[in-house]
Amino acid sequence: TNKRVYNFSAGPSQLPLEVLETARDQMLNYEGSGMSVMEMSHRSSTYQKIFDDTKATLKRLMNIPDNYKILFLHGGATQQFGAVALNLMDKGRADYVVTGNFSKKAAQEAAKFGDVHIAYDGKDNNYTHIPTQDELDIRDDIDYVHICQNNTIYGTEWNYVPDTKGAPLVADMSSDILSRPVDVSRYGVIYAGAQKNMGIAGLGVVIIREDLIKPHKENIQVLAEYDTMADKDSMYNTPPAYAIYVLGLVLKWVEKQGGLEEMEKRNIKKAALLQDYLDQSDFYIYETEKGSRSRMNVAFKTPNKDLDAKFVKESIEAGMTNLKGHRAVGGIRASIYNAMPYEGVEYLLQFMKKFEEENR
Ligand code: PMP
Repeated sequence: TNKRVYNFSAGPSQLPLEVLETARDQMLNYEGSGMSVMEMSHRSSTYQKIFDDTKATLKRLMNIPDNYKILFLHGGATQQFGAVALNLMDKGRADYVVTGNFSKKAAQEAAKFGDVHIAYDGKDNNYTHIPTQDELDIRDDIDYVHICQNNTIYGTEWNYVPDTKGAPLVADMSSDILSRPVDVSRYGVIYAGAQKNMGIAGLGVVIIREDLIKPHKENIQVLAEYDTMADKDSMYNTPPAYAIYVLGLVLKWVEKQGGLEEMEKRNIKKAALLQDYLDQSDFYIYETEKGSRSRMNVAFKTPNKDLDAKFVKESIEAGMTNLKGHRAVGGIRASIYNAMPYEGVEYLLQFMKKFEEENR
């Protein structure tokens, strides 16, 4: 059938229906060009306009200052785990805050290229807590501090920008970019894989302060060289062209909804709907600390593994999908990114209430 489901996937994730409809309408013949964006030369003026508009819309929406460059790169967020270290490690020293799986992976990748110090590791609290400023052990004389702003698997999110003792702050915003306004000027580098709030897989977006783009080291891969990619406006080679086009559609959709302030309002409302219910329930287990909770990923459990499995099975029968928690933590996870409508979360909540009644 043609029926679409409420898709709670952590990524790739549900896209706004309007975006899919526009992509469909433009699929065979993009604005009279006689071809799909998929078939277009990335050097054509038609594509260049898509590219430039996408960049301009992102700059406008996120209020990105003029002294920042926007790069559209291959390889998702993981490519940037290494690229950040290769480009920013001058002194060869960086501090990483480990608040979950992806920040750990970023630290492990960077450790291949320099001296990495773990400024905090949340493993003892099962990554249910985002460290306070006092808990961070940040060294002097480092190239940067790295954080993962929203932890997709554990469902935690930074609600403040840490003080890095003057070192540039590098943030992986893969799972919360565009979900709320951020003050870009407080970050040295922001990067994100596109397949959650920005569109589809295959694209990594990097927002970098110009003074951090330095002449590249001799022995690194050309696609990891920020200076080359900035000089060539991300077109040293064929960029992930279709993913950039979809990003443009998503950005226009966000702008039409009212921008990041409106996204934040909606996301606060959606997250509160689930979180308030989980807090008062004596059935569901929701251990993520207040103050560390993500508005994008809500990870919780039923009383036991069998019920977790039953929950997942019955949720699929009810027209929802991808509610199974990440294999590293089990339980249930609802990813409620920008494209998840309030009604989708309400629908899930009704299901959760019924499931609780039937299984308590
Ligand atoms: N960082 C975060 C916060 C993520 O959620 C993910 C993917 N789920 C990654 C990094 C890895 O991204 P990618 O698959 O685009 O390399």
